[in-house]
Amino acid sequence: MEPTVVRHILVVEDSPLVLKILGHLFRQQPGLEPVFCASYAEAQLMLETSAASFSASIVDLHLPDAPRGEIVDLILSYSLPCVVLSGSYDETRRNELLAKGIVDYVLKESQYSYDYAFRLLHRLESNRNVKILVADDSEATRNLIRRVLAPQRFQIIEARDGNEALAVLQAQTDIDLFLVDHSMPGTSGFELVKILRQKMRRSELIILGLSADDKGTLSAQFIKHGADDFLRKPFCPEELNCRVISSLERRDLMRALRRAAQYDSLTNLLNRRAFYEQATQRLHDAKREEKQVCMTMIDMDYFKSINDQFGHASGDSALSTFSKAFRRFFPDDVLGRLGGEEFALLSVRPGSEVVATLDALRQRCAKLDYAAGAPPLSFSAGAYESKASDLENLLHQADRNLYRAKHQGRGVTVLGTSHSDSNG
Ligand code: GH3
Ligand code: MG
Ligand code: MG
Repeated sequence: MEPTVVRHILVVEDSPLVLKILGHLFRQQPGLEPVFCASYAEAQLMLETSAASFSASIVDLHLPDAPRGEIVDLILSYSLPCVVLSGSYDETRRNELLAKGIVDYVLKESQYSYDYAFRLLHRLESNRNVKILVADDSEATRNLIRRVLAPQRFQIIEARDGNEALAVLQAQTDIDLFLVDHSMPGTSGFELVKILRQKMRRSELIILGLSADDKGTLSAQFIKHGADDFLRKPFCPEELNCRVISSLERRDLMRALRRAAQYDSLTNLLNRRAFYEQATQRLHDAKREEKQVCMTMIDMDYFKSINDQFGHASGDSALSTFSKAFRRFFPDDVLGRLGGEEFALLSVRPGSEVVATLDALRQRCAKLDYAAGAPPLSFSAGAYESKASDLENLLHQADRNLYRAKHQGRGVTVLGTSHSDSNG
């Protein structure tokens, strides 16, 4: 299990009821640790001594010694992200606070609004790793966007026209979201979307279009050419914020779904279908570069008896323990779990090297603890080295060699090459 990093949240609130609710909710958030202060003075002292230890804050606007939201200015003076909790909705107040740079204004009205506040706290942390490129020729618009997005802790980069934006995107391939104005000198926003979508999928780069166009046709055009969403200028700051966040959430969900469809959850290796896909691609590249490849099939030895004698959970632990070591010994190759206790490996290294690494892995496996009292982990492997085979043939030949390895008594690797196997 990955250790959970705990982040401290400063909570400034005097109402016992709200404190009770927050305390309860914080206990359900393993990564967040609240530090409670009941007054402005207490918060001030806390910040003077340990502001740097907090990653965000939740504050009540009405405190006994600061009834008019003075706490917000205090928090912001320490550049600490500030989520405001309020008992009543006041439009003017809300706008004032948003303009000051709070993260958001949340009403203490329902379970849902408290959940929303916690989502904001989690999002703030992941936003620190999100890079947003803003391309607009108007400095005022760029400044407005920066003012809206900066309190959310995004990394913001600016470009003044289309060509500059393209250059930034080329140099910084880890940009997550591109906010692009339509009418700019040089390449228009619309052209940029067309160019970018030729090589970058939605999961790689989110594109949000911006335009002052009032005909309403541009938005549809932007989206048809691959933008994820569109905002008409002038926009309300909160709308920009919501669209950015919802497109990031959509992308994260898409990535999680793709991952779940490709990786086996027990071993974190590619599942059978994804292994076939990635191996086909790797094979294609190897052929183009006229490189030979080595396909290996691996099967755990006497695995059934581990399950039978030590239980299914021990069998599972054996599989995940083996897989971690497998990945460590072959960091650059295509690895998959084909099913049950059977694995495959496609490498562009020479067969002899693959066999040597498998021997080292075998020695390591023999020493790995995966369940109390269980026998050492052992596996058999069949490898096949070739320059011109297709995937099916590579797997077929590797499987035949695996069968031979089992017949030789298990715990060994049998390697064949395309020149040596013509006679069987
Ligand atoms: P051999 O040395 O000939 O390979 O024998 P074996 O016992 O390893 O092979 P066999 O094919 O007879 O048994 C494989 C076992 O692996 C049977 C199946 O119940 C078990 N198995 C398959 N998938 C899983 C899994 O996800 N978890 C656990 N615990 N066991 C699994
Ligand atoms: Mg413009
Ligand atoms: Mg087996």
